[in-house]
Amino acid sequence: MGAKLVWCMKALHARGLITGSGGNASVRLGGGDEILITPSGVYKAELEESDLVRMGLDGKVLDGRWKPSSEWRMHTEIYRKRGDVNAVIHVHSPYTTGLTIAGRNIGPITPEVALILPEIEVLEYVCPGTEDLGRLVGSRIAGKRALILQNHGVVSAGRDLLEAMTAIEVLEEGAITTFVASLMGGAKVIPKEEVELIKRVYKR
Ligand code: 13P
Ligand code: ZN
Repeated sequence: MGAKLVWCMKALHARGLITGSGGNASVRLGGGDEILITPSGVYKAELEESDLVRMGLDGKVLDGRWKPSSEWRMHTEIYRKRGDVNAVIHVHSPYTTGLTIAGRNIGPITPEVALILPEIEVLEYVCPGTEDLGRLVGSRIAGKRALILQNHGVVSAGRDLLEAMTAIEVLEEGAITTFVASLMGGAKVIPKEEVELIKRVYKR
């Protein structure tokens, strides 16, 4: 569990989805009410398993030499609301965040993006690391794979880390593709009836 979490942070950093100081991730332990979460303010691309913090969904730190991520409430609220979620990732993906700051939507521009869009929502700006942000995310995560946090980043929830990573990657690819198409004259979307066909073909 811990090794995969460490790998995840290195991969996110290598792909430019987080800076060394930004972003965080966690996994639920044994499907219960304890999680392993990244520490706060530590350079995330150089994490070791011993840097991870074990804590309860009640906010109690159980093990670890660092403080848990400042976004621990966002993570614990998601696990509390979603019994199906075993991994949460928060990133500052620059294209997804940048397009949203500019007030631009990511549309159904490729089949992969079209499939994930109904499971995405943009949340209003709330100060990072606060109880308010945790509460807001918890209140809007039902039925979603990821939430875009205005002027901040993205938080994704998955059955495992790879599922949570995938949502972030697909969203960022969609944002980059939208950005490139916009520079070249406009992002044409896939027609509605074709999107319906894609949904039928790729139904999960
Ligand atoms: P932490 O280092 O405390 O996890 O904070 C990073 C971050 O992205 C805050 O939103
Ligand atoms: Zn953040």
